[in-house]
Amino acid sequence: MAGAHGVYFRSLNRACRKPMRTEMKPESQGAASLTRRRAIGLGLAGLSGAALGVSLPGIFGTRPDRGGGTEPVGHATRNEELWTLWQKRGWVKEARHYERVGKTVACRLCPNQCVLAPGERGRCRNKINRDGTLYTMAYSNPCTFHVDPVEKKPLYHFLPGTKTFSLATAGCVFRCLNCQNWEISQRSVEETKDPRGDELRLRPPLPEYLTSSQLARASLFPEDVVAVTSALGCPSISYTYTEPIAFYEYTQDCCKLAREHKLRNILVTCGSVNESAARDLYQWVDGAHIDLKGFDDEVYRRLNSGRLQPVLNAIKLAREIGVWVEIVNLIVPTYTDNLETIRKMCGWIVRELGPDVPLHFSRFHPHYKLKHLPPTPVETLLKAREAARSEGIRYVYIGNVPGLEDAGTTLCPKCKKPVAKRDIFAVTQLDIVDGKCKYCGEKIPGVWA
Ligand code: SF4
Repeated sequence: MAGAHGVYFRSLNRACRKPMRTEMKPESQGAASLTRRRAIGLGLAGLSGAALGVSLPGIFGTRPDRGGGTEPVGHATRNEELWTLWQKRGWVKEARHYERVGKTVACRLCPNQCVLAPGERGRCRNKINRDGTLYTMAYSNPCTFHVDPVEKKPLYHFLPGTKTFSLATAGCVFRCLNCQNWEISQRSVEETKDPRGDELRLRPPLPEYLTSSQLARASLFPEDVVAVTSALGCPSISYTYTEPIAFYEYTQDCCKLAREHKLRNILVTCGSVNESAARDLYQWVDGAHIDLKGFDDEVYRRLNSGRLQPVLNAIKLAREIGVWVEIVNLIVPTYTDNLETIRKMCGWIVRELGPDVPLHFSRFHPHYKLKHLPPTPVETLLKAREAARSEGIRYVYIGNVPGLEDAGTTLCPKCKKPVAKRDIFAVTQLDIVDGKCKYCGEKIPGVWA
């Protein structure tokens, strides 16, 4: 997924990017080391981790890929030993929301609607049909985790100034040409995790440091995620960086347990999910950043390999269920910078969701397969903000433009005074008391306590 959340994460990637191919080296022999001090030096409060560059032999089947036939990634039987190890670690779980037709399975989780013969892999790279049963391989095996300000998600009307324990596994249901986190979102889980070597289950008390190879074999089960989050003093858990729908079962189990422990759950999602699966998940979710990557189905296909309507449905459903939603629209030059289309999108937001859903326009920076494009001109972002305001959206923000005045300012819709200000991810002013403007008492929608 693209978004402002990639900034610190990418810094950390650079620290840990040294590839470790098939054979894992002993940690003392050159594995990149990430100390807590180093993580803090990179702007990360608390424990952080990222595992990248692990490349196991193709072990778990083939992957059907839209438009390109079946893309081989290995043979189902090539390494049964690794599959067994994966199971032994607890990194495999039967998938949810699928149907069997003989030994073929039809995954109903997301609009990709993968139909998989035995041995085949889903488009998200995480799901595999093993002999007529669909499994997720992205369970309790995050490839990265950090403590982030909640403003980095970005959520501006949700527990401002707090930290959120954030995690991801490899994989995504989309193929965005501009993905900021493609090094993990466009990887299979076995490219980031390695079940060989000693088991390493992370739970409090936390280790002082973790090497890349430790991270590659580390497990973080839902009860560990909850315990670590509480130990770090974070009031929420964020499922982010890649796509939580791609690690749905892990996300859902963590969410349920977190709710029991009075922790909040935050999804940072592309919103491409089928209704029944969304209902089953959203009931456990408190806040969501949902990307609305554009308002043109044809552009959605070309830029993201997705469809617009399921995303619109998911946004409406999340609101209906009571999730606090903030929408992020990344403006990509030549793809999603048409002002008339932006205006239409804003009109839809006001009509279908009301004027109080915060809208974040985010600046594109050249990435991944769109390195040839320029960054979004600031003028385009300002015009988009003006269009959104004139359509009636009350809380409009601009992200990824350091130093731009009032980019992260919340104005009271009644007295027009600034009631909250942010500088990148730091809250510099907060004049919202009990959910109301300190100056005139107008209610400011959000989750404030
Ligand atoms: S979650 Fe989506 S991409 Fe993954 S197997 Fe299911 S339908 Fe396919």
